[in-house]
Amino acid sequence: MIEFHTPTAMVSMGVLLVVLGLMFQGGWKSGELYAPSRQWAPAAILFGLGIMLIGLRGSWPAFLSIIMANASLVGGVCLLHRGVAIHVGVPPTDRWYAAALTGLFIAFLWFTYANPDAQSRIALLSTLMALFLGHTFLLLKRTAPSFAGRLFLWTLAPVTLLFAFRALIAGAGAVIGKLLIPEGAMQTVNIFVVSTSAVVMVAAQYRLEAERVRAALAAEAETLRQDRDRLEEIVAERTAELSRSNAELEQFAYAASHDLRQPLRMVSAYLGLIDRRQRDMLDDEGRDFIDFALQGARRMDSMITVLLDYSRIGHGGHPLESVPVGEAVAAAMANLADMITASGAKIEVAPDLPTIKGAPMEILRLFQNLLVNSLKYVAPGVLPHIRISCQSEDGAWLISVTDNGIGIPVDSAERMFAIFQRGVERSLYDGSGIGLSICRKVVESHGGSIWVEPAEGGGSTFQIRLPDMAHLPSS
Ligand code: ADP
Repeated sequence: MIEFHTPTAMVSMGVLLVVLGLMFQGGWKSGELYAPSRQWAPAAILFGLGIMLIGLRGSWPAFLSIIMANASLVGGVCLLHRGVAIHVGVPPTDRWYAAALTGLFIAFLWFTYANPDAQSRIALLSTLMALFLGHTFLLLKRTAPSFAGRLFLWTLAPVTLLFAFRALIAGAGAVIGKLLIPEGAMQTVNIFVVSTSAVVMVAAQYRLEAERVRAALAAEAETLRQDRDRLEEIVAERTAELSRSNAELEQFAYAASHDLRQPLRMVSAYLGLIDRRQRDMLDDEGRDFIDFALQGARRMDSMITVLLDYSRIGHGGHPLESVPVGEAVAAAMANLADMITASGAKIEVAPDLPTIKGAPMEILRLFQNLLVNSLKYVAPGVLPHIRISCQSEDGAWLISVTDNGIGIPVDSAERMFAIFQRGVERSLYDGSGIGLSICRKVVESHGGSIWVEPAEGGGSTFQIRLPDMAHLPSS
């Protein structure tokens, strides 16, 4: 059987505590005044040193080791109390602790000189521990500490109780002490209480660190959650603001273009009248002027019509319907039958075009505009070849309309989607510059996006990304 050697056990326990104390010294070094480990790391080191010295008592002069061991243990308990008080939210004043330690030290010195009896010194020191015992119970009663805090308090209770008990025994004198406690029992109780409390102290420190980390993480998560909520709020606010100002702008464009038409009609009518009735009275220059004015008025009228048309898109407010894209394309092709035949175009439509949720007339218009452009913007003598295909991509449909036309330079591609923007000479290709802006408005009002890329071998590919309703929440 392995024999239990008390001094060795105590020295080992002390070394262990010193090592653990050194491990826990992070908060102590960090300089945070009220960091719990600022108290418990030195407390564990002092406690460990005290236990080691008790274990080594036999090999040192008794007087020296008693002084040092007790001073070290009391210092440890003192710091432990302070740490617990901080942790449970009753920060003690440093003055109070400095006074307690100074009192202990002076009393100890006095006893050392006045009364060299080691027993009496133990009695004094241990009696002072009753002070800490009272403090422990006061803290337990006054506060509702965390789990780690309670663990620490229940560690302090037996330690201080033991010191107080030792005071009683030492005070009662060796004879009574021997009568009360059998030989070696005090040592056994000593090692049991001190080692148990040391283990609990370390466990509590670990627990405390975990609590601190968890609290820090929770606080960080809370901050992140608040930031995210705030961002979502800002986005919602901005989106609402944007749609309000968009709606106002569209309303304004609609009203302005509508109202502008009336005076414009008058200008055109009177210009027409002058042209018809007084053309002969004008010289050549005057007739040219009238022609220019009439052309301008007609152009302005068609621009206003286009603007009115544009501002009406997405205004239907009708509930969205299921729109089979294949059918919308077929209807657009039927509308353009003459143009397709005249151009000799070849149009390939993939059979697997999806069904989306949308406004059927607008989807038809989208494909009709794209088809018109693809038929129109080809080099002279080239037969248009158009392909419409589709693929599924991350919860969305990507529909491509590819042609073999004159193409759009990459650097001006985005500009072509703006209203009245054109990339070709009017004399070569007729147009108003509204088609692609209508396409974009239709796609965006369906929650999608549209852009153009150069097609392989020349020409353009218009990409339309539309949300796949099957992937959206039903609301
Ligand atoms: P419009 O066709 O009346 O000019 P759009 O808005 O439809 O107005 O087109 C804007 C410009 O984009 C056109 O003027 C043309 O330069 C260019 N474009 C549009 N579609 C094509 C296409 N399929 N191929 C080449 N260029 C195109």
